[in-house]
Amino acid sequence: MKILRTVKEIQEFALNAKKAGRTIGLVPTMGALHEGHLTLMRTARAKCDVVIASVFVNPTQFGPNEDYEKYPRRFAEDEKKMETVGIDAVFHPEPSEMYPERYCTYVTVEGDFTHKLCGATRPIHFRGVATVVTKLINLARADEAFFGQKDAQQVCVVRRFVEDLNINCHINMVPIVREPSGLARSSRNEYMSPEERARAAVLYESLKLGKAAYDKGERDAEILKKIVRGRLEAEPFVKQIDYVEILTFPYLDDIKTVEGECLMAIACYVGKTRLIDNVILGQGE
Ligand code: AMP
Repeated sequence: MKILRTVKEIQEFALNAKKAGRTIGLVPTMGALHEGHLTLMRTARAKCDVVIASVFVNPTQFGPNEDYEKYPRRFAEDEKKMETVGIDAVFHPEPSEMYPERYCTYVTVEGDFTHKLCGATRPIHFRGVATVVTKLINLARADEAFFGQKDAQQVCVVRRFVEDLNINCHINMVPIVREPSGLARSSRNEYMSPEERARAAVLYESLKLGKAAYDKGERDAEILKKIVRGRLEAEPFVKQIDYVEILTFPYLDDIKTVEGECLMAIACYVGKTRLIDNVILGQGE
């Protein structure tokens, strides 16, 4: 497994793979790797000749009062985990390598769907994501890139700009990997105390209640949202609910009645930790 730290190194690596006629899969991450990340990497491993993972805590996707400084960084441990998957190369640049002095170019996905869900409280987040993912796809010459359903809005945004900018890379969405309690795996779960972490299972429980009502035939979005919100509000460890939403997937249009594929998504604080989770309704129906 090669460790690439500079733009020049990843460009050379990708060019050589391309010259040899190999397909390249990219798995962007911010590190502090868990089973969710490793599942993306295994999916990429099964589909592509060459797999490049990136480990980069991207400063441009964090707001001024968010957890950029506090975000866990432990590259030595991450390296060992990636060795077990058989990744070919890891791109692990310094922020100054990605954003050198005089850097001033950003990819902004317009329209109101970047202001919905997480975009409502994280106004610059998706600009940072779109910018770094564009750079990573370019650098890695990726034919395929792999993202988790855990961040479903991110998948919608990435698919949007890849199509709009005619970027020749297929965007794969990998299902959410959960802890035994049902809590979606996340690098941020470690911010919680053991008790908070146990209570955080309420996110998935609330979504399952909504899904059960949907499965029984309920199609009124307001009623389904009320069911989910009701369960979250009943949990004293849930300190603030940012949103409980049902929107079409992948365009994130508002709806009154659930039809076709729809994203049922929530964001809330358990203690001081902001958590997100979602379920896609009508998948494969
Ligand atoms: P992050 O390091 O949090 O930026 O995540 C990197 C990638 O891993 C993103 O595409 C995430 O959606 C994905 N991911 C994170 N957690 C999970 C999970 N529990 N299940 C599936 N994918 C995940």
